[in-house]
Amino acid sequence: MKNKKLIIIILSSLALTACSGDKKKPNKNEDVESIHQQLLTIDTHVDISPDYTFKEMFDPGQKTLMQVDLDKMDQGGLDAAFFIVYVAQTQRTTENYAIAKAQAQRKFDSIHRMTDSLYHEKIRLAEHPEDVIKLNKAGYKVAIIGIENGYVIGKDLTLVENYYNQGARYMTLAHNGHNDICDSAQPNEKLGDVTIEHHGVSEFGKQVISEMNRVGMMVDVSHVSDECMMQSLTLSKAPVIASHSSVRALTDSPRNMTDEMMKALADANGVMQLVALSAYLKIDPERSVAIKSLRKSVAEKYQAIKYNYELHSHKPEYIAGMKIIDKKYPLATVQDYVDHIDYAVKIMGVNHVGIASDFDGGGGIMGWKDASETMNITKELLRRGYSVQDIEKIWGANLLRVWEDVDNVAKSLKNAM
Ligand SMILES: [Zn+2]
Repeated sequence: MKNKKLIIIILSSLALTACSGDKKKPNKNEDVESIHQQLLTIDTHVDISPDYTFKEMFDPGQKTLMQVDLDKMDQGGLDAAFFIVYVAQTQRTTENYAIAKAQAQRKFDSIHRMTDSLYHEKIRLAEHPEDVIKLNKAGYKVAIIGIENGYVIGKDLTLVENYYNQGARYMTLAHNGHNDICDSAQPNEKLGDVTIEHHGVSEFGKQVISEMNRVGMMVDVSHVSDECMMQSLTLSKAPVIASHSSVRALTDSPRNMTDEMMKALADANGVMQLVALSAYLKIDPERSVAIKSLRKSVAEKYQAIKYNYELHSHKPEYIAGMKIIDKKYPLATVQDYVDHIDYAVKIMGVNHVGIASDFDGGGGIMGWKDASETMNITKELLRRGYSVQDIEKIWGANLLRVWEDVDNVAKSLKNAM
C-alpha cells in the first residue's frame, strides 16, 4: 500500500528542517496530517465492555459512544490497539476464579468475533510484532490482545499458555487489589487487603513470570506495587513493559512511576507507555470526588450491586453527569500529557517511551478525548521539536522492539529445552 521506508526517510528530513526553525516547519494541519498518516501508531491500552461486539452500542463497526470504534480509528489515524481482557479483582475464592475465567473468555471471544468474522476485512489480529507491520502495510487496522489483571488465571498456571494461544501478548500482573501473583499499587480495603501481602512478587508469581517468558507473553507492570515492579525486572528473562502508567514526579499517584523505577525499566530495555488518564496527569481531588459520587448514583439507579464502569459509562445519566464534571473540573490536556512524555524521555531516553490512552476504561483528555483525535498527539510532539524518527519510536516502534525481544527470549528458551 505505502512505501513506508522511503516515506519515513523523506519525512525525517522534513522534521529535521522543522526542528531547525526552517520555514517548512510542519505547523500547518496538512503537513502534520501527512506525517501522522505515515506513522505506525499503536495505543497499548483500550478497554472493552463485557458486551463488546455482542450488543449494538458496543459494536465497533457502528458509530458508537465508545471512545474507540473502527470509524474513530480511521478518522484519527490510529492504526493498532491492544484491546484489553480486563477482569476486576474480587475475593480470591474457587467460585470467583471460575467467574473471572468466564469473564475473560467472553472478552477473548468478543475480540475474535471482531477480527475473525464481523470485521475481518477491516481489522485483523496480530500475534507477533512483524504481523503488526505487515497488516498495517496491507491496509488493515490491527488488533492485539492484552490482559489486565493476572487474576484471570487464578491459580492455574496452564491458563497462561491457554490465553497466549488465544492471542494475549501482555498480561498486567495485578490490578486494583492484591492477587495471588503480586501486590497491587492500590490495595483494596473492601477485599480485606493489607498494605503489603507478598512484599512484591509471590512464589506463585515467580512461576507465572517464568511461564510468560516461556510462551512469549510480555510482563506488564502497570498497576502493581513498586516492589513488585522492581522485582519483575530481575525475575523476567525478557524486557518488561508498563502498558499504561505516567510520571509520579509530575503527578503523585501510586499508579505512576518514580524516576528510579523508570530508570530501572529503561536499563532493562523495557518501555513505558504513558497513560492519557486525567487523574494520572493532573491532581484534582475535587474532580475525583465528583466522579466517584456520579458513579455511585448511576450504579444505584441501575441497581447494580457493584459499580461496573465498563457498562455504566455508557448510560445517559453518566454521560450527562460527566459533561457537567468536565466543565467544572477540566480534564488534563494534550499539553499536560506530553509534559509527561517529555519527562519520561528525559529520564529514560526516547527508546523507552510510548503511548496509551486507556480509552473506554477511564482515559481521555482534552484534545485526545477519543481515537478520532489521535493526530493531536503527533501535532504536539512535532510542535515541541521531536523528530519524525523519534515520534515513530514513541508511537509504536519501541513497543514492537520490546515485543520482538520477548518473542526471541521465548524462542531461545524453547531451543534450550
Ligand atoms: Zn488500568
